[in-house]
Amino acid sequence: MKIAIIGGGISGLSLYLFLQKYLEEHNDLKSAVEITILEPHSLPRLHGRQPDDIPSTGGGYGLAHNGMASLRRLDPALHEQILRNGFPTSKFVMKSARGWTLGAMPFTDLRGNEPDCCVMVLREILIAALYERIPTTSVIQRKVVRAEDGPEHATVELDNGEVCRYDLVIGADGVWRWVSTDFLPPPPETGPAAHGQTVMTFGPNGFFAYTPYTTGDTPATKKHIEGEATLPPGKNAFWWSRSAQEQPSANPDAAVLKQELEKRHSSWKDPTIMEIIRHSEVALKTPTFVSPKAPTWAGKRVVLIGDAAHALPSSSGQGVSQCLEDAEALASLLVFNLQRFTKPESELEILSNTFKQYMQVRKAHVEKVLDAGNRAGDSSREMGLILEMLMYAMMWAMLKFFGTFFLKTVLNYDLHAEIEKAKKSRSM
Ligand SMILES: Cc1cc2nc3c(=O)[nH]c(=O)nc-3n(C[C@H](O)[C@H](O)[C@H](O)COP(=O)(O)OP(=O)(O)OC[C@H]3O[C@@H](n4cnc5c(N)ncnc54)[C@H](O)[C@@H]3O)c2cc1C
Repeated sequence: MKIAIIGGGISGLSLYLFLQKYLEEHNDLKSAVEITILEPHSLPRLHGRQPDDIPSTGGGYGLAHNGMASLRRLDPALHEQILRNGFPTSKFVMKSARGWTLGAMPFTDLRGNEPDCCVMVLREILIAALYERIPTTSVIQRKVVRAEDGPEHATVELDNGEVCRYDLVIGADGVWRWVSTDFLPPPPETGPAAHGQTVMTFGPNGFFAYTPYTTGDTPATKKHIEGEATLPPGKNAFWWSRSAQEQPSANPDAAVLKQELEKRHSSWKDPTIMEIIRHSEVALKTPTFVSPKAPTWAGKRVVLIGDAAHALPSSSGQGVSQCLEDAEALASLLVFNLQRFTKPESELEILSNTFKQYMQVRKAHVEKVLDAGNRAGDSSREMGLILEMLMYAMMWAMLKFFGTFFLKTVLNYDLHAEIEKAKKSRSM
């Protein structure tokens, strides 16, 4: 089976590695499957670089505990690498722009022998850590300009005019997806539909979050995950600011961006915020998108994962973790069905079963995360005094009485159990 993965982001790279892991367990299948990643950008290498030496051009994420657990299942050494080179964050402290502490939200799963917490990590580190486990010969540095589904094969056209046929195409190309999918609403057309111990501050004109970053010299232990110890900070901080803007300026000048940030946050009480802005070189400004719920994520030979299927609100803090869980589920189910159906003519049956089971495992859950993220609201819009006070009061009450509500949406989902349940639904 010839498989193309379009996109070498977290979804695409982790899917490749999960597929390899499950195929390794079945020697007979390994040689029958060929996987290629199509990615236009040159992917980063760590080459022994430490977090402090890595440019923040790709920004970073809070990789939640369920995403960390997925990484551990993929490769414990990879989990260890991210824990060491990121910043373990067992809780998010929420503050108001006026300096009041509104409460704290835990972001840990302390059940079982292998606890996990959220880790703040640069995108470049996570991508490089995944990529260094993939042979360079499996990656073609090309942009896909057309990808089409079909019963006999899926067709992919590259930006050099080359047209290739695959038995299975996985769209992991993010929110702007290029895979032509008549079964999905179109991707966003124009400008943005505006929309981490890590401190998050909410104000009447936006949001600011910061966490110290680490040197990568000290291994993280169970104490760091459980919030009883903190890694020694490096010379960098990890921060982001959010505001509502209908039309963000294209490629804004770094100095202009800095002025914008100073204006937005100068009256906020926490002095660390302005200190961080003054000492920062602002590298990245990006819109955020949320996908509408799609009726399906799959066609005949094409299936979507990660942001290509569902871009989640940033308030969910779950984008990357859901990408990893998609990749784990799809890889496990595809290898399971490859084993079950051995005749070559049953290829469409293999794919159809895999896609149905994949969506059974993932779709309703991702939509629950989407709803929970949407309920958390958009704190970046401009508001007057009354709305501002109302927002603080609601956040205080939410954190005091329902602090773990969102966490439960994620904790109550056992990916492994859901995959096993889907494998048993033989009627498919
Ligand atoms: C501002 C912001 C903050 C966020 N913060 C968080 C957070 O704190 N925690 C969290 O979990 N998530 C967060 N997210 C969401 C998270 O970044 C995404 O969910 C995640 O990166 C999606 O990964 P992906 O691999 O699906 O897509 P992407 O990361 O978009 O990767 C897609 C890949 O496909 C490639 N590609 C695109 N087009 C083509 C083409 N035509 N041909 C071939 N390849 C192509 C791209 O080059 C890219 O490498 C945030 C997002 C934003 C925008």
